[in-house]
Amino acid sequence: MKPLELNGDAVGKGNLILVNPSHPIRNEITKERLVPVSKETIQTPVFLEKQSARMLSEIISILNSGDRITPVSGFRSLTEQIEIYNTSLAENGEAFTKKYVAIPGCSEHQTGLAIDLAENSGNIDFICPDFPYTGICGDFRKLALRYGFIERYPEGREEITKISHEPWHFRYVGYPHSVIMNENDLTLEEYADFLKGFPEDGKHLCFSYENNQFEIYYLPVAAEDIIHIAVPEGIPYQVSGNNKDGIVMTLWRAQ
Ligand SMILES: [Zn+2]
Repeated sequence: MKPLELNGDAVGKGNLILVNPSHPIRNEITKERLVPVSKETIQTPVFLEKQSARMLSEIISILNSGDRITPVSGFRSLTEQIEIYNTSLAENGEAFTKKYVAIPGCSEHQTGLAIDLAENSGNIDFICPDFPYTGICGDFRKLALRYGFIERYPEGREEITKISHEPWHFRYVGYPHSVIMNENDLTLEEYADFLKGFPEDGKHLCFSYENNQFEIYYLPVAAEDIIHIAVPEGIPYQVSGNNKDGIVMTLWRAQ
């Protein structure tokens, strides 16, 4: 077994962090971890966290969608989020802004793990771009799950997410979590709680998909904690905080 030491900082880092009005961002992503996506097709480059960007370009390349799918907005700094929020307040009013624009400090766009996409047309709306459920966008949705992306603000879940239905906003949570969330019809808010039902010292979540087998469990971590866990040697694993109260371990058991 390989020993792994984690401290309270780990809670606010990783692909599974829950970011919403009740759970603001704890760690700003560093510039070195951001890369531009589809730089050749747009005037203003859109940035994403490296791994999410790699997975997005994989999907685009499999779909061979060229510039039919356009990234509209990816990473935003706190300053940019404040600007967007204030501009929307002035132009669209408070009710609209509260529905569609996250409060600065609580926007997934500040994590580098979220991207707004548009079906390319002459006229793209920056806040509410058109991204339908049919055609190339429908194909994107199916493939996106296998590459770790979820539609973050689905219809009918506004009570839970506190954001209106946004067919254009995708969040990278990583595979296999995207697939498990979809199979169980869970938002990220619900998934964070769902995973707490699989504690380290209890029954772990075992999930098989295609030829992969995963073992997933949750471990509470307080801010001042330094915890030691043992990871089986020779297998890939991922550690992610939930941005609430603990971390989630994902072990790739077999292929
Ligand atoms: Zn968005």
